[in-house]
Amino acid sequence: MGAAESKTACVRRIVFLGPPNSGKGTQAAMLAKTLGVPAISTGDMLRAAVAAKSPLGQRVEAVMAAGQLVSDDLMADVVRERLAQEDAQQGYILDGYPRTLPQAETLAEILGDDELGTVLLVDAPEEVLLARALGRGRADDTEEIARRRQRVYREETAPLVSYYETRDLLQRIDGAQGIDDVKAAIESALGVG
Ligand code: AMP
Repeated sequence: MGAAESKTACVRRIVFLGPPNSGKGTQAAMLAKTLGVPAISTGDMLRAAVAAKSPLGQRVEAVMAAGQLVSDDLMADVVRERLAQEDAQQGYILDGYPRTLPQAETLAEILGDDELGTVLLVDAPEEVLLARALGRGRADDTEEIARRRQRVYREETAPLVSYYETRDLLQRIDGAQGIDDVKAAIESALGVG
């Protein structure tokens, strides 16, 4: 194996796909530690921008509060810039991106000849997800907004399941289980841990 190939073999690029409250954010952070690559959560990045009242934060605040999606164009800039950073060159875990088909196409374009390792779909029945959202009692999660977040997922993001399945990248994880069982299922799917 040449130097270029062995470098590629070490790089881990993983996408977490799944509805709000599936627990994928928690799992993405844990897996990032295990693999020694950054967890890149677009939701966290946008929340930080809102908290900092940056120009980006001011543009996205109302859309986020309403449980809607930020525009694909704006997200493309955010992700392109983040993935170009030094710490992402040996791999990364993407949590919350892509969320629409155009975003998946943007990611493919950013990747160029690089390959995505795996797309992990963490899903659970909608009653479970809603119970978690409302049980959490976050001020931004009124029942109406929690339901809208789920609907936006089903309408805009769920089509990515077949997109990645067709490309033979998808692995399904049962997100209705407890945190430790989900973690174990992910590690076994990836052959790590
Ligand atoms: P999350 O923490 O991933 O649920 O993201 C919180 C909110 O940030 C979402 O409800 C969206 O308003 C926004 N957001 C995060 N990632 C994206 C994305 N890839 N595309 C559009 N909006 C996003």
